[in-house]
Amino acid sequence: MGPQEGGGDTMNGRPALIELDRVSKYYGNIRALEGVSLEVRAGEITCVLGDNGAGKSTLIKIAAGLHRHDAGTFSIEGEQTALSSPREALDRGIATVYQDLAVVPLMPVWRNFFLGSEPVKGAGPFRRLDVRTMRETTRAELLRMGIDLRDVDQPIGTLSGGERQCVAIARAVYFGAKVLVLDEPTAALGVKQSGVVLKYVAAARDAGLGVVLITHNPHHAYMVGDRFVLLKRGTMSGSHTKDSVTLDELTRQMAGGSDLDDLRHELSRPASPTPG
Ligand code: ATP
Repeated sequence: MGPQEGGGDTMNGRPALIELDRVSKYYGNIRALEGVSLEVRAGEITCVLGDNGAGKSTLIKIAAGLHRHDAGTFSIEGEQTALSSPREALDRGIATVYQDLAVVPLMPVWRNFFLGSEPVKGAGPFRRLDVRTMRETTRAELLRMGIDLRDVDQPIGTLSGGERQCVAIARAVYFGAKVLVLDEPTAALGVKQSGVVLKYVAAARDAGLGVVLITHNPHHAYMVGDRFVLLKRGTMSGSHTKDSVTLDELTRQMAGGSDLDDLRHELSRPASPTPG
C-alpha cells in the first residue's frame, strides 16, 4: 500500500468509496467532531445518527468540501484527501442533497433537474438551451428511479417536499455521483412521504451508489441502513453493522441509553400519600 493510500480495511480488495478515520474538527475551542470514523461502500447505506449539536452538519461539511478536517484522515477510494471546495467534492463523485434544496421554485422540474449543467445545441448565434433533451431526459431519469411525475413542466415548487427530495436524488444519480450524502431527507416529512423518500434512497443504493444518510430517526435508519454510526456531542458513541445491532438497541442508544435511564429515575415521582 502506497503512502497516499488510506490505511482502512478493504472488502473484496476494494477500498471504501469514502473512509473517515478518527476525524476531528474544531471551531476555535469548540469541539464539533472528535475521533469519528466511518466508511461508505458502493451499494451500501451508512447512517449517521445524532441529536442536535451531535456534529452531523460538520460531518456533511467535511464530506461536501465546505470545511477541512483538523485531524485524522479522510480517504476517497483509498486516497487520503482534504477537499478544498464543493466543486472538488462533486468532481470526485460526492453529491450532497441538503434539506433546504437549492431549487428555483417557479421553474419547471426539468429546468431544475439540469440547473447549472444545461445542455445546449446549435453553434454561434444559434446556440440555445436544448429544452427537448432536458425535458425528455428528466422524465426518463425520474421513471428509471420509479418516480412517475404527472408533468415535468410543472414548477418544482408545486411538488411535495418528498417529491422534491426524490428529484434531487435522481439528479445526483444521473450526473454520475458515486456517493450521495443526504442531510435529514425525512426530517420535515410525514410517515407516508418519508416512506417514499426512503424507497428512492434504496433505489440509489441499488444503482450502485454509496449513500450517507444523516438522520435522527433510528426507525428510518434501520429500514434501509447497512452501517450505523452514532454521534453524541461531537464524538462517536456507537458504530454498528446491521447484523450487530437490533432496532431496539439502536433506538435505545439514540435516545440516550443510560442518560435516559438516569432521567427516568430523576423524574419518577414518589407515590402520593394517601389522603386522610
Ligand atoms: P443540528 O442537528 O442541531 O444541526 P448537528 O448534529 O448538525 O446539530 P453541528 O451543527 O455539526 O451539529 O454542530 C456540532 C457542534 O459544533 C455544536 O456544538 C455547534 O454549536 C458547533 N459548531 C458548528 N458550527 C460551528 C461554527 N461555524 N463555529 C462554532 N461552532 C460551531
